[in-house]
Amino acid sequence: MENRKIECPVCGRIFHKGQGIKIAVSGQELIFHSKSCAIKFFKSLVLYLDQKNLEDAARMVIKEFEDRLNEVKEKRKKKLETL
Ligand SMILES: [Zn+2]
Repeated sequence: MENRKIECPVCGRIFHKGQGIKIAVSGQELIFHSKSCAIKFFKSLVLYLDQKNLEDAARMVIKEFEDRLNEVKEKRKKKLETL
């Protein structure tokens, strides 16, 4: 493994492998130097996606987090009830 230095595809900063934020997108591994560069990348990515699909995808993601939050709230409630 000789490619230990990586260039951030968003801001061009050079950083060491292991320091960045690694995200797999459609089978490709992208590494950004920081979270804010990753967010910038995804904001642009979203603009290139089909807007109808995006609407459905956004709804699914919201639902997923909602379910997760409800689970957490439910657990918290149960904990309080057993106290
Ligand atoms: Zn960057």
